[in-house]
Amino acid sequence: MSKRGHYDSVVIGGGPAGLSAGLLLGRSGRNTVVCDSGEYRNDPSTHVWSFLTRDGVSPSEFRELGRREVGSYETVEYRPDRVTDVEAVADGFAVTIGDAEDVSTRTIVLATGLSDAIPPIHGVDDLWGERVLHCPYCHGWDVRDESFAVFAPNEQFLHYVKILLQWSDDLTVLTHGESWITDETNDAFDANDISVVDDPISRVDRTDRGLNISLESGETLARDVLWVYPDSTQRSPIAESLGCSFTQEGIVETDERGRSSVDGVYVAGDAGRPSHQVSFAVSDGAMAGITINADLAAEEFGSR
Ligand SMILES: Cc1cc2nc3c(=O)[nH]c(=O)nc-3n(C[C@H](O)[C@H](O)[C@H](O)COP(=O)(O)OP(=O)(O)OC[C@H]3O[C@@H](n4cnc5c(N)ncnc54)[C@H](O)[C@@H]3O)c2cc1C
Repeated sequence: MSKRGHYDSVVIGGGPAGLSAGLLLGRSGRNTVVCDSGEYRNDPSTHVWSFLTRDGVSPSEFRELGRREVGSYETVEYRPDRVTDVEAVADGFAVTIGDAEDVSTRTIVLATGLSDAIPPIHGVDDLWGERVLHCPYCHGWDVRDESFAVFAPNEQFLHYVKILLQWSDDLTVLTHGESWITDETNDAFDANDISVVDDPISRVDRTDRGLNISLESGETLARDVLWVYPDSTQRSPIAESLGCSFTQEGIVETDERGRSSVDGVYVAGDAGRPSHQVSFAVSDGAMAGITINADLAAEEFGSR
């Protein structure tokens, strides 16, 4: 076992991906620290849906259960601190935790997640995760058959509109002043009873039952739910500062086992994948943990 302060792995991120990586590393006897700055993607939500055995649990309870399980292994330390710097050194990485504490590690797991930029329309931020939603697989069932507005300012949102029909046939597409709807799409919208509003949205307010969507024309639209698809970007600059490769969409590139393009740096969860669910993040974390143990074991075997 490594001496304290020199780790087999520093896991950066204490969401589902990071905790899962910590669990697998800890149970492999790998001296590990999980650092958690406390900024979780699903914080605005009251429930975690679609996670088998925990369907509907609150996000904070989910993480608390995870921390308890990980914390029961003496091989894992959980630190509620931000990693402020990571540098590649001869035998791994030098990591700064918080303001000043420097530790060294053979490997890094980046489980740092994404942060969401939602459309900058007055009122949307306050309702995010409650009546302004993005993921039908997370929230669709709970608002099924309600009246939906879909923020769809370009053609890329057409796919989203098609999927949302699975949860309600009362859909209004809001193009927010952009004219992208072709005649063919218009015909398909008509055939599916989808209405289209072109006026830009000026603000969104909560009502007793749902939402009041105000348009720049002065008209208002009452809907139960507004669906928006956020622009999501890396929460942490660490992958970039370490020189990891990214896809065009801004996802950290990995092989199928979570290895990034930089030796010793592994990625798990939203930071390294295009589709996002808690179950996927947990699976990625487990894969990263297993891969790190296997890679370190191969290195140790060769040097014995
Ligand atoms: C509103 C909303 C609702 C959702 N609802 C669901 C749902 O019902 N079901 C579902 O399956 N999925 C849901 N999701 C998706 C789900 O939240 C993500 O897929 C999941 O959280 C990804 O886990 P993660 O561990 O990769 O990232 P996160 O949970 O975002 O965790 C990232 C971690 O990295 C840490 N971190 C970042 N930088 C640093 C640093 N420098 N030092 C230390 N720590 C750092 C953060 O503090 C955090 O601990 C929802 C998403 C949103 C936005």
